Amino acid sequence: MGLTGSATATVRFDDVRVPEGRRIGEEGQGLPIALAGLDAGRLGIAAVAVGLAQGALDDALAYAKQRETFGQPIAGHQGVAFLLADMEAAVDSARATVLAAARRKDAGLPYARQASIAKLVATEAAMRVTTDAVQVFGGAGYTRDFPVERYMREAKVMQIFEGTNQIQRLVISRHLVRAGAEPSHHVLRGAIEEPQA
Ligand SMILES: Cc1cc2nc3c(=O)[nH]c(=O)nc-3n(C[C@H](O)[C@H](O)[C@H](O)COP(=O)(O)OP(=O)(O)OC[C@H]3O[C@@H](n4cnc5c(N)ncnc54)[C@H](O)[C@@H]3O)c2cc1C
Repeated sequence: MGLTGSATATVRFDDVRVPEGRRIGEEGQGLPIALAGLDAGRLGIAAVAVGLAQGALDDALAYAKQRETFGQPIAGHQGVAFLLADMEAAVDSARATVLAAARRKDAGLPYARQASIAKLVATEAAMRVTTDAVQVFGGAGYTRDFPVERYMREAKVMQIFEGTNQIQRLVISRHLVRAGAEPSHHVLRGAIEEPQA
């Protein structure tokens, strides 16, 4: 459906022997190490999703200002203006969520829960915003004359890779019910005040 700028292929490892000196952690720690790698990847995907949603919003806004129906630019119709307002709110809130998680990472704090939330929030926002961008373009949005149809296709994979959004909900709910999980209001404040974990 998309992601044509990045080559995707299956990699197979048959009978591969890796010297012990190449081991990157203690024996038996492979899965936790691999899963920790996903946390940073989820932040990256979340940031890409914010950029994608912002791009869709920018294009939709520009189109809504110049396309006229019923004697005025479609941005002047409240039905379209409110759609744009919801898109702006979704992009802004997704960006704030991603930055809050990234600040925790930069501060050396645990951020697995926040990375999953950022990935979930930003990619769901990107799917909604890019779909709405196609709507703002009307029939033109469904053609390949404008980039918004591609934005919509690209948004879809972000809900799937680096752990599907169902898996993000699994991660978040496990953190939520686990005893000792940090309160969510520490997300921003904690980046400054919490001790190094
Ligand atoms: C374009 C593209 C690029 C990719 N790049 C990479 C890459 O670089 N590296 C890499 O390792 N992988 C990559 N992937 C693979 C991607 O990470 C997986 O497709 C994704 O993790 C989902 O796994 P799956 O396809 O096996 O789906 P499945 O695990 O079969 O899931 C199918 C459906 O069931 C749901 N589901 C599964 N288990 C649960 C559960 N416990 N609770 C609730 N719902 C559940 C899923 O959310 C999904 O909706 C890529 C995929 C695509 C499409």
